[in-house]
This record gives sequence, C-alpha cells and structure tokens, in this order.
Amino acid sequence: MTTLGADPVSTYVTGHDFRMLVGGDLVGSADGSRMDTIDPNTGERLTSVPSAGAADVQRAYEAARAAQPAWEAIGVDGRAEVFARFAELIEANRERFAMLDAIDGGLPYRAMHVDVAIALANIRDWPSLVRWHGGRTIPASPGNLHYTSYRPYGVVGKILAYNHPMMFAATRILGALIAGNGIIIKPAPQVPLSALVLGELAREAFPPGVFNVITGGADAGAAIVTHPQIRRIGFTGSVATGLKIQQAAASVGIKHLSLELGGKNPMIVFPDADLDRAIQGAVDGMNFGICAGQSCGSNSRTYIHRDIYEDFIAGVAEKLESMTVAPAYGADSDMGPVVSSEHHERVMGFIRSGREQGARLLTGGERPNGSAAPGGYFVRPTLFADVTTQMDIGRKEIFGPVMSMAAWDDVDEVVATANDTDLGLTAGVWTNDLHAAHRVAERLEAGYVWINDSARHYWGTPFGGVKNSGIGREESIEEYESYLEQKVIHTILREPRL
Ligand code: NAD
Repeated sequence: MTTLGADPVSTYVTGHDFRMLVGGDLVGSADGSRMDTIDPNTGERLTSVPSAGAADVQRAYEAARAAQPAWEAIGVDGRAEVFARFAELIEANRERFAMLDAIDGGLPYRAMHVDVAIALANIRDWPSLVRWHGGRTIPASPGNLHYTSYRPYGVVGKILAYNHPMMFAATRILGALIAGNGIIIKPAPQVPLSALVLGELAREAFPPGVFNVITGGADAGAAIVTHPQIRRIGFTGSVATGLKIQQAAASVGIKHLSLELGGKNPMIVFPDADLDRAIQGAVDGMNFGICAGQSCGSNSRTYIHRDIYEDFIAGVAEKLESMTVAPAYGADSDMGPVVSSEHHERVMGFIRSGREQGARLLTGGERPNGSAAPGGYFVRPTLFADVTTQMDIGRKEIFGPVMSMAAWDDVDEVVATANDTDLGLTAGVWTNDLHAAHRVAERLEAGYVWINDSARHYWGTPFGGVKNSGIGREESIEEYESYLEQKVIHTILREPRL
C-alpha cells in the first residue's frame, strides 16, 4: 500500500485531545466517561473521546437555549457571515477532515475530499437559498389581512449515522441553524473524530452555545430524544433506531421528528438500455468507492431484463473484480473496510445466508487477500445473481458492499417485486424509452427516483424516503421549512373613516 502522507494516525490523531463543544467550551463529559474509537483499516484502537450522558445533554440544551434568541435576532445576513467564516475555517482544514474520516471511518481519502467539498458548497449556499423563502397571504376574508409567518423551534437535536461523518456533521445542521435554531449534534459513536474537530472550528465562528457537539452512543442519543424541551429531532440512521426514537419521543411529549432511514433500493434495467452505461451506473450506484456500499441510497437490488441479464451480471462482476480493496488512507484504495468488526460480522452473515438460501455468487463474498491490513474489516465487493425477495439478501438492508441481482420478463411483475419491501428510499430505471421510464418511475414506491442515473444527489431537490425509509425531506427548501413552525396571523381591518 502507498500511504498518502507520513503516518496519518500520528499526524492527525495521536496526541490530540478530542473534546466536545458545549456552550462554547471544549469539554469532557460531566462524569468523566470516555469511549474508544477504532481504526477499521487495522482494527486497532485510535484514541478515546468523551462519552456523554443526560447531564451533558442538559448542559448543551441550556447553552443552546440561552444563545438562541440572539442567534435568531441577527437575521439571515448575520447568520450568513457566521457561515462564511465557518466555511473558511473548514477550507483551511480540508486535508485534515478527509484524512480523519479515512482513519476513523475507513472511508477512502479521495472520496472524503469530495465530501468536504460538498459540505463547503452547502455551507456557502444555504443563506442564499433561504432568502427566497417566504410566507403567504391568504384571501380568507374580504378586506382583511391573513398571512403566514415562520419561527424556529428553539433548540434542535440532530443524531447522525456513520457513513459520511464530516459531511453529515457539517451539512445536516445547516437548515436548522440558518432558520435561527440552536443545535446539539451527536455523531455516530464509530466515527466521532471529524465532528469533534468541526466543533473546535465552530467555536471560532459561532456565538457560544449556538452550535454544540456531544459524543456518545445510544444513551446519549436517547437523552437528546427524551429531553422534554428539545422539541425538534432530526435523525439519520437505521429503521430499528428510528422506531425506538418515535416511541421514546412520544413518551415525553409531542415532538417533531424527521427520520432519514434505510433503503433496499431497486434499479430496473430494460432491454433497450445502453448496456455499458447501465452496468457502470449499477456499480457507481453502490457507492463502493465512497463508503464500501454503506450507503442508504445504494441500488443494492438490480433487476435486469432477461435478454441482457447474463451479459449485464458478467459486466458488473468484471468491474467489481478490478477494484483495489485497501486501507482508506492508501493512494491506491478504491474501497476501504466496513466500519466495525460487528458490522463486518453482520455483512459476512448476510453473505453466508445468500449462499445458503440459493443465490448464485458471482464474485466476492470473502475478505480480500494481499494488500489489505489483516486486522481491518474488509469485504471484497460481492455480487449475487438469481436473488429473490424471499431471501434475506433480497429483502433486508445489508448496508455493505453486496449487490443482489435477478432477471425479469414482465414490467408489471418487476414493479411489484421492486415494491415488495417495507422500505422506499431510492429507485432507478434504465431505458431509452422515456414513456416506459416515466410510467415505471411513477409506480415505484420510493422518495427519490433516477432515470438513467444513480447515486447522485442534486442539491436543492428534496431527498427522503416513503414507507419505513423515513419521514421528511432534506437537501432542499423543504428541509429548511421543517426546522420552522408555521403560524397564521389574522388582521381585521376597520372600514376607512374618511
Ligand atoms: P444507527 O441507527 O445504528 O445509529 C444512528 C445514530 O443513532 C447513532 O448516532 C447512534 O448512536 C444513535 N442511536 C442509537 N440508538 C439510539 C437510541 N435508542 N436513541 C437515540 N439515538 C440512538 O445507524 P448507523 O448504523 O449509524 O447508520 C446506518 C443506517 O443509517 C442505515 O440503515 C442507513 O440506511 C441509514 N442512513 C440513512 C440515510 C438517509 O439519508 N436516509 C443516510 C445515511 C444513513
């Protein structure tokens, strides 16, 4: 392996005191608890970070509550200046963020550079996006004035998944903040480092208390969710945790939740599709090179018309075999490890079940030989063919580098198969017949559908799921609006006296 830069762990992690940002101070947890974070490229312990509990959430809440009115009062122009300063600080730390996510999350350094660039573009864009947002006047009674206005919730809790650590911590907060809320974010426990560094930079840009970062596991997340005064919770993570959050939130009051959850996303390939582009689209859509297939929107189920099925799966297998699976901070890494030993075990369990339940393994299904570090949590890109929705690999979200494919003969049947899960995040249709493409796109039960495309998110277009894939939309004006409460004001106007 060619490592990018001299020993990345000692350059970016060793000796750094990673602390939470609460009320403008860099702090440990109230009771001194800490948790280890592991390098998934090697399986070795990197360092430890604070492990927060309810007392830390309370402290962060009080700080955010105190800071929020002034933050709201400075208006979009004032907040835009803070965002601009925040972007400058991040820009100056691009390398560091890309490397931290490669080390802590096993996400290839090259791809994490793109994540940082996306974060920067978002931070710079949000203020201009919301300037175009306004309320309505409604002709509810003649001669009078009826209009809507919007107010922030106050303090928002944001709980994050692990697959884009820096990008989620830097972007999934922006709608809430530009709307005038204070925020508490909690990154996933597997990948706390880049969010903590982001907190260090936020300290130099934001008024104290507006932006708070706490680290911890399920207990810290639950303490945010059950805090009675944090009435707006944004969550990105699994369906199982989303269900727990709905229940826990309901136990303390009525809360506004957005839930960005998992997917088991179908892609349907018609016989007239451009074969090479569709093969590349299927591979790109898995985000192997960004997060080893640990991507909510990945097209983990692909249905290919029988006429082109064998050519298609052979073409995909060839591309998967050409990938270099290696530590994420290596210059030659096309794909890094999965995030943890537990998740590695889970992915390998799905692969075993695919074999046992009769799917045809075309490639992968094992740890790679050679270049990958022996202790790292690597899985070769894996392709199963002849997968049905009765099999676990055809039905459940694996969240790893495993593709499932099957042949189809009839459009109605393949649409029914595509919709035959509880999930509905993304979907894809590949054909040169735009009539068929749009008809099928309308029928697919998903929140985000690509025609002759995959994986790309288009900033400004609402991203989110239907069915168990979630509630709410992000990456768009809808996200901003979801961090505001609407109010209607009625003004009854007297008849003119003159
Ligand atoms: P996860 O549900 O295990 O954890 C997500 C976060 O929730 C973590 O910060 C965790 O500490 C916290 N948490 C765990 N238990 C909690 C509880 N009881 N109360 C409050 N918080 C709790 O998910 P993960 O493994 O980090 O991420 C993978 C999942 O996220 C996949 O299902 C993936 O599809 C989904 N995801 C969805 C999107 C999207 O935009 N729809 C994006 C990325 C990931």
